[in-house]
Amino acid sequence: MRVVTHDDMQTRRGPAEWFTGTVWMDASPAGPTPDASVFRVFFEPGARTNWHTHPEGQVLFIVSGVCRVGNEGEPPVDVKAGGIVYFAPDERHWHGANPDSYMVHAAVSPAASTTGGTDWLEPVTDEQYAGA
Ligand code: MN
Repeated sequence: MRVVTHDDMQTRRGPAEWFTGTVWMDASPAGPTPDASVFRVFFEPGARTNWHTHPEGQVLFIVSGVCRVGNEGEPPVDVKAGGIVYFAPDERHWHGANPDSYMVHAAVSPAASTTGGTDWLEPVTDEQYAGA
């Protein structure tokens, strides 16, 4: 068993090359195998990730607010707190707050031992975010 406490987490602002809008994230330190990166992420209303993929997939647990999530070729959907979103490996997607609410999610990604981490792509346009 390994316990990571709040004091072990580092809070930092989400970098502008990965996000649109104001985002804060707490990241777990790397641990022994089997490992997973665990992030608690706060998005202000309208804030969202860039398009990206995860080599070993990702699970989001929506803790607070309303998450807006988009997947390539599909209109975005809103998922309220308590909901869970799964992404398959290399599925091209984005996630953030909806326009009317901030949002906090836990993001769990299995350790990518050989293929590297998240592949960050271009920003989500306002039209894509709106589902226009
Ligand atoms: Mn993701």
